[in-house]
Amino acid sequence: MKKSICIVCKGEKKGNRVEDDMYIETMRKIKNRLHIAANNTLVVCNDCMQKAEEKRRRFERTLMTWGILATLVFVMLLLISHSLMSLFLAVIISIIVALVFMLIAFLTSYFPKVEKHGGKKGRIGS
Ligand SMILES: [Zn+2]
Repeated sequence: MKKSICIVCKGEKKGNRVEDDMYIETMRKIKNRLHIAANNTLVVCNDCMQKAEEKRRRFERTLMTWGILATLVFVMLLLISHSLMSLFLAVIISIIVALVFMLIAFLTSYFPKVEKHGGKKGRIGS
C-alpha cells in the first residue's frame, strides 16, 4: 500500500497531491536506482496548504530573480564582447551562469507545485 505523506509537516496525512515535475521524477529515478525509494504519494495536507503555497511562490520568485540576473549577465557580456570569439564565450559563460543560478535557486528554495482541488478535469492516465 502506498502511504500519502505531507511534504510540509512530514505526517502521514491525506491532502492535495503534489504535481510530479522534473525534479521529483529525477529524485525518484535516483532513489529507484539506489533501491531506497519509499514510493509514498507526496501530498500537502489541508493544514499546511497555506504554508505550501507561500513556499511555492517564494521558489518561483527566486527562480525568476536568478533568471533575470542570468539574462543581465548575458546582456552585459554581449555589450563588452568585440569579436565573434568573445561573443561565443559570452554565450557559453551565460549558459553556465544561468545553470549555476538555477541550481542555487533549486537547492535553496525548491518547493513542488500542489494540485488544487477540482482544478483539472479529466486527466489522462494516473
Ligand atoms: Zn501537513
